[in-house]
Amino acid sequence: MTFKEQKSIAILGSTGSIGVSTLEIVAAFPERYRVVSLTAGSNVSLLKKQIRQFRPEVVALADESAAQQLRDEMGTEGIEILCGVEGLTTCATHAAADMVVSAIVGAAGLVPTMAAVRAGKDIALANKEILVAAGELFMAEVERQGVRLIPVDSEHSAIFQSLAGQRGQDVRRLILTASGGPFRNTSLADLKGVGLAEALAHPNWEMGQKITIDSATMMNKGLEVIEAHWLFNLPAAQIAVHIHPQSIVHSLVEYCDGAVIAQLGIPDMKTPIAYALSWPERLPLKQNPLDLCNGSDLHFSEPDLERFACLGLAYQALARGGTCPAVMNAANEIAVAAFLQEKIGFLQIPEVITRVMNSHKPLAINGLEQVLAADNWGRLQATELIAEGVS
Ligand code: NAD
Ligand code: MG
Repeated sequence: MTFKEQKSIAILGSTGSIGVSTLEIVAAFPERYRVVSLTAGSNVSLLKKQIRQFRPEVVALADESAAQQLRDEMGTEGIEILCGVEGLTTCATHAAADMVVSAIVGAAGLVPTMAAVRAGKDIALANKEILVAAGELFMAEVERQGVRLIPVDSEHSAIFQSLAGQRGQDVRRLILTASGGPFRNTSLADLKGVGLAEALAHPNWEMGQKITIDSATMMNKGLEVIEAHWLFNLPAAQIAVHIHPQSIVHSLVEYCDGAVIAQLGIPDMKTPIAYALSWPERLPLKQNPLDLCNGSDLHFSEPDLERFACLGLAYQALARGGTCPAVMNAANEIAVAAFLQEKIGFLQIPEVITRVMNSHKPLAINGLEQVLAADNWGRLQATELIAEGVS
């Protein structure tokens, strides 16, 4: 197999689930990829190991004291260690980077990733909250800069692959699949009492904690509907969700002649990550093959919006438009963090988001500052509600 020259990449969120998988691919294909910068939130020990293995030129930690700790520990090793949003942005815009892997969790990824687009970098996008909070602005900037934006999220990678060689105007519907998470068959009455450990026990995917809880509430699929809306330029009415517990069919595109094209594979994020890194080529990953003959049957069903209110909230936020999805996302981030700290129960997550959304009057988006202000407002509202003891 012949490849083009080596690609230099920056990884935002290198210590997370997507970041670590990305580095496994880099390690397996050193002739193809070189790391120029890495960023993390506060995980000093893992970032230090990654620095020693991948030798980036610059790294950044969001947390200032973590950055200082890393400087103290690595003083003599000649690596530039930055901190805060400025540091993340420096890493995201590194002159030598051809592509930026955007894998910070949450709206915290927005500013550095937007800076990467403005600096003309191609983007492998794992962070869906960016498109939820600022999809219109982000896509306009991608267009203006003429950069390549390749989805990493498995459903969107599947759609991207299923659209290849087709005409946009022939698409009738996108169908996003959802595993249904650990509570797929749990009654509404029982959802009230589910605990943190059960919510973190995702049946099919190993992921960071925030997206694992989002999968349990199905907010993850709601965020993905909004993500698909911006990535593929289709209205919500043409984006459906099917529950598919096996997570084998990663998503589907239905065309105007009734043809349906899907992408299948075992549930492992390395496949979509590698595809985003190597597109339009494919990397020879050593994945277990999909065994359709000896695997389980493939099932599909409609999602239940009564038990999984978050999915409906996302469609509602998209319909209300403007700053509403940014506010919804912010309230969700705060509610999920509170659930992870066992400050609120599982069904209080949609309750907090609903109440914050109901008290918000969406504004048309006129710039990044406004999105950040809406994000901040949503966080404050949700934090106050939780402090007051949301019922
Ligand atoms: P994770 O929690 O495992 O990792 C998040 C990374 O972001 C870590 O490196 C962390 O240090 C960093 N980080 C956290 N807060 C930060 C902050 N305030 N500023 C800067 N950096 C910060 O998350 P993940 O599961 O890898 O998910 C990352 C993104 O990819 C999310 O948006 C998620 O929705 C999306 N995604 C993940 C998966 C998956 O399989 N994990 C699949 C599809 C999409
Ligand atoms: Mg997904």
